Amino acid sequence: MTTLSPTFMEAFSRLVAAPSISSIDPRFNQSNREVVEMLANWFADLGFTAELQEVSRDPDKLNLIACLGQGEGGLVLSGHTDTVPCDESLWARDPFRLMEKDSRLYGLGSTDMKGFFPIVLAALENIDLTKINRPLFILATCDEESTMAGARALVSSGKHLGRHALIGEPTGLKPVNMHKGILVESIKLIGRSGHSSNPSLGINALEGMHSVITALMTLRQEIQTQQHNPAFKVAVPTMNFASIHGGDNPNRICGDCELKVDMRMLPGMPLEDCRAAIRRSVMQAIDGSGLTVEFDQIFSGLPGMQTDPNAEVVSIAEKLAGESSGAVAFGTEGPYFNSMGMETVVLGPGDIDQAHQANEYLSLDRIDPMIGILQKMITHFCIQKD
Ligand SMILES: [Zn+2]
Repeated sequence: MTTLSPTFMEAFSRLVAAPSISSIDPRFNQSNREVVEMLANWFADLGFTAELQEVSRDPDKLNLIACLGQGEGGLVLSGHTDTVPCDESLWARDPFRLMEKDSRLYGLGSTDMKGFFPIVLAALENIDLTKINRPLFILATCDEESTMAGARALVSSGKHLGRHALIGEPTGLKPVNMHKGILVESIKLIGRSGHSSNPSLGINALEGMHSVITALMTLRQEIQTQQHNPAFKVAVPTMNFASIHGGDNPNRICGDCELKVDMRMLPGMPLEDCRAAIRRSVMQAIDGSGLTVEFDQIFSGLPGMQTDPNAEVVSIAEKLAGESSGAVAFGTEGPYFNSMGMETVVLGPGDIDQAHQANEYLSLDRIDPMIGILQKMITHFCIQKD
């Protein structure tokens, strides 16, 4: 096969060199257009149809949906094109210049997860693409690290993308079929300030927050007695009291107080039910106090993921990786894909310990095994011998 595709190292270097940070902080948020356009060209050169999907009103945030082959079944290989922000002063080298040292490839996004795409391209090099007779989709999404807007746009587009999906997030080449969900909630109590010498002059938001925290700790206890999954290192749902801000002067009644909590749900715990339970507990705790409350979800949350361990994509991944599937503590776009009728396994070459770190790298010895896994996955799902 002759292709116009760049070499593995060229492709990897160019992806790392194109900044595509996503952040809920507008100061750091960047476009991913350069990355998806590059990928679109490379996959189009291999014969894929390549569509860039706008995900919001921002024309510079895009998903790539590339497809080769037609029909039912097939395989979806997916990765996100954005990275987290990086503090260049903590890096020993330029984070946007891929560099090989000590059998590692250093660069922002090397492990999480721009490095997945040159590996996909390398896997395709050794496959006779004319034999592909089931659809092979390559998804390259945006904003995974910030709002999951890319995955959400895929869901709302209602596209039919097949049944079996692999996300190449860093799992150290181990198949993953489960992760927890994430819910972040801000609870702001509003009372009335007044002179500290006379409590009847105000409504103390800090005292109200004391009741709220007690109620939420009780709720946490209840949920933890009901929900348990031994596949997870922390086998119960957690609720972390992350920050609290309220009041000003000692001689003033605290007029408002804000608490932020982070909850990690087990798969199968619906996000909206958990949010509703938190809000109900808060409302009960301040009932009759005269306080009012404002809730803000900070980000819309991520459901937990649980793909049937007997799903074909999971068992094939287990066979090829030589490891049984398990759970991880980080979130992925998998629950969105599963909500579209896919069965998703997460399996990638990087290590999560390297993700979101200064001097992020991908070990060279992970690359060939991942190429091999992908070749066999593609052959299994997209080249039917009938
Ligand atoms: Zn990632």
